[in-house]
Amino acid sequence: MTDESDAKGLLDPEDWTAFRARAHETLDRALEKLERAGTGRVWTPVPESVDAQIKTALTGAPLSSANVDDALASLLPHGVGNTHPRFLGWVHGTGTPFGLLPAMMDAAMNANCGGRDHVGLRVERELTSWVSELFGFPDTASGLVVTGTSMATIIAMKVARDAALNFQSRENGIDGAGLVGYTSSEAHACNARAFDMLGLGAAALRKVPVDDAFRLNVDALKRAIEADREAGLTPFAIIGTAGTVNTGAIDDLDAIGEIAEDQSLWLHVDGAFAASGVMSPDVSPKLRGIERASSIAFDFHKWLHVNYDAGFVLVRDEALHRQAFSSRPDYLKAAERGLAAGNPWPVEYGPELSRGFRALKIWAHIAEFGTKRLGEAISHNCRLIERLASLVDDTDEFERLAPISTSICCFRYVAAGLENAQLDALNEEIVIRLQEIGIAAPSTTGIGGRLAIRVNMTNHRTREQDLHILLDAIRELAPAAIEAVSHP
Ligand SMILES: *Cc1c(COP(=O)(O)O)cnc(C)c1O
Repeated sequence: MTDESDAKGLLDPEDWTAFRARAHETLDRALEKLERAGTGRVWTPVPESVDAQIKTALTGAPLSSANVDDALASLLPHGVGNTHPRFLGWVHGTGTPFGLLPAMMDAAMNANCGGRDHVGLRVERELTSWVSELFGFPDTASGLVVTGTSMATIIAMKVARDAALNFQSRENGIDGAGLVGYTSSEAHACNARAFDMLGLGAAALRKVPVDDAFRLNVDALKRAIEADREAGLTPFAIIGTAGTVNTGAIDDLDAIGEIAEDQSLWLHVDGAFAASGVMSPDVSPKLRGIERASSIAFDFHKWLHVNYDAGFVLVRDEALHRQAFSSRPDYLKAAERGLAAGNPWPVEYGPELSRGFRALKIWAHIAEFGTKRLGEAISHNCRLIERLASLVDDTDEFERLAPISTSICCFRYVAAGLENAQLDALNEEIVIRLQEIGIAAPSTTGIGGRLAIRVNMTNHRTREQDLHILLDAIRELAPAAIEAVSHP
């Protein structure tokens, strides 16, 4: 038996009592930030002093404990700003203070979840069953916790690609296979990037036009498939979007699913944020057909607010999923007993071997809130975005540029006498000024050739008063912004 006092490692604290005090103080600083999340600026640019400190922390001598703690705390105000109620840009989740708790346990366990027989794999497996049921998949479906939808998409499309080529591609590549896939012109860029990374080429993902509601045009899809078949190519997959980045539109997944079934194509759904809407009665009817998918990619870190990062890939056919990734060299050999049991391992479902225990924070989040409360937070956002749309519609100062589907409202400020190009510049200027002043952070996008102020409402801290603050700030900023773009 070793004496307990000998059990300290080379990188463990010398004085645990002092370290405990440090750890508690750090926790208090983190809690302080979150308790006051609704106050202050949304985005605070990184000052030179912090930039300098980021550098010297690495290049100078190691810092004293107090200085490490201060250095950490000095970073806190300079994040993206998505913990603030008026962060309304892109599609970010808000996170929750409860995320601090599993983050600490995760660090304490330091588990590697690539494989082996331990609780990390049990949690991820149970989570996979839970996700399968959520989307109406069979309980034999497989899944993997990943960084985000971008990675989930690469994994799903690799399974689709290899399944289409009888898994020959794993050994021999895809040279000249002529595989083509389809998605809408509104699809997220991560889908084309997956095609790029998988050697299919981004151009092999056809961009099918959308209808007036920004949803994939199903007739155009049929024609595109037919044209490619006639040209001797091999259609293999359709990617439907549940929640487009520009307007939040949800494709008619039922209709697309039917085409995929008829033509024996893989249906993948990019449900990054809006697939979470299955938990909300406001969104779930629009997701009808998602249960027909061969695979789904979505994020827990967006509309479900698990702290970054937390994405998920779900694959209907576990055997295909495993066949696309599994290879077990001697040093990773499966065993019936001991630490090398617990098969199959996550490394057989994705490209990563070493991987953290991301499933822990997701599991704790679901345990804390349950689907009902998470769904209510989504419904709250749906009501707020409708409210914003009506505030925009009620005045001549604003013009709405797209219908509301889920969480996104695109509009612009209009001023008499300005041409389209000037209105684009004006609205861009307004958004930048809102961000720089720190009052609110929407983003911009292009809708039908016009630059839109884009408000995305996947923030559980936003209240109606924040919408008024946003619109009032735009009105207040506008004269100076008009001046700036008219006389550059
Ligand atoms: C955010 C998003 C993605 C990419 O997801 P990440 O988690 O950022 O990798 C893909 N598709 C849509 C529709 C998105 O909103």
